[in-house]
Amino acid sequence: MYKDIVLKRGKEDSLLRFHPWVFSGAIATLPDGLEEGETVRVTASDGRLLGIGHYEIGSIAVRILDSRDIALDEAFYASRLAEAWTLRQRLGLVRSDNSTFRLVHGEGDFLPGCVIDIYGSTAVLQAHSPGMHYARHIISRALVDLPGAGIKNVYYKSETTLPFKARLDPVNDYITGAFDTNIAIENGLKFNIDWLKGQKTGFFVDQRDNRALLERYSNGARVLNMFCYTGGFSVYAMRGGATLVHSVDSSAKAVALTDANIALNFPGDSRHKAVAEDAFRYLGDMEKGAYDLIILDPPAFAKHRSALNNALRGYRRLNAAAFEKIAPGGILFTFSCSQAVSREQFRLAVFSAAASTGRRVRILHQLTQPADHPVSIYHPEGEYLKGLVLYVE
Ligand code: SAH
Repeated sequence: MYKDIVLKRGKEDSLLRFHPWVFSGAIATLPDGLEEGETVRVTASDGRLLGIGHYEIGSIAVRILDSRDIALDEAFYASRLAEAWTLRQRLGLVRSDNSTFRLVHGEGDFLPGCVIDIYGSTAVLQAHSPGMHYARHIISRALVDLPGAGIKNVYYKSETTLPFKARLDPVNDYITGAFDTNIAIENGLKFNIDWLKGQKTGFFVDQRDNRALLERYSNGARVLNMFCYTGGFSVYAMRGGATLVHSVDSSAKAVALTDANIALNFPGDSRHKAVAEDAFRYLGDMEKGAYDLIILDPPAFAKHRSALNNALRGYRRLNAAAFEKIAPGGILFTFSCSQAVSREQFRLAVFSAAASTGRRVRILHQLTQPADHPVSIYHPEGEYLKGLVLYVE
């Protein structure tokens, strides 16, 4: 039997509107002996059940997983995973030429605190809450048993995603299975995925649709992929018929990974070159008109609201450098993955960058995260990726 958390009077409204978080300020009483990560029942002041979820210490105190009075057991996770799998099939992502996608996107798949990316027969599981850390073994079993999914290996990667104060000391390791192959296929292109040491779960699955769009603009273009990481955009640009592709990242490891992914798909193709260099320095030094197509996909400049102003200045400076140098008739793909930066704020930063260079700029596409990163309409905080495709005359 789960313990009860009782809310203050009138604090049930957001849960009744299906928002999945209970903030600590809404709580009237915490039960004795409650441990971080425990499953709790959340009730209104009149005793009515509002939902069950995982308790944690911090401003978000409970993440609600269900509104019913049920057990959060393996059957529960199995049914959530089956729903998520059915949606990915519906999205057309489970194909012989595509084995890379996000199966669970936290609140967007009604599993707050849980992220699961699929790379062929390996699932990479990331917990963002103590509750999901404790549930990792039953989630892993449910993944392996998921009908038709063919998942054999489950790698747990939460060293950097769990609240560090929780003292859970998570170890990145296989819960089930072991390393077999790390080559995954996205839209017919092959990628080495480094879930052991790479950023996030090893790959930026969220740029898949935007990479496919870029491919359509690549024919005959000289392409600069700035902040290339695994070279995802570069590989698509090569297939799209770019005349040259330069990939830049400040990390030498990223440059090596990009080279490996190009070699995997286009062995011996001399159109590609990767360079380890700082973005601002590269953009500052490069010749005007050297590229027709530029991708700017920087890391999150603002991880928290406090860093917002600096982040906006960073986006402005970065984009201004690209507007300054891109060839006439060029296309700029520019992104922000900072959740703390709103779509409007990002657009304003890019607008002022454009204005500072005086070039005529039009918006061709407004991009976001793909459908395997769904956003619950009741939880707008789940939206984070923003992009603009701009025509620069
Ligand atoms: N576009 C990539 C993801 C980019 S992640 C994809 O589609 O997979 C951000 C990358 O920016 C990281 O690889 C990081 O090493 C790199 N980076 C961070 N700061 C940088 C800087 N100042 N100059 C160049 N690269 C930088």
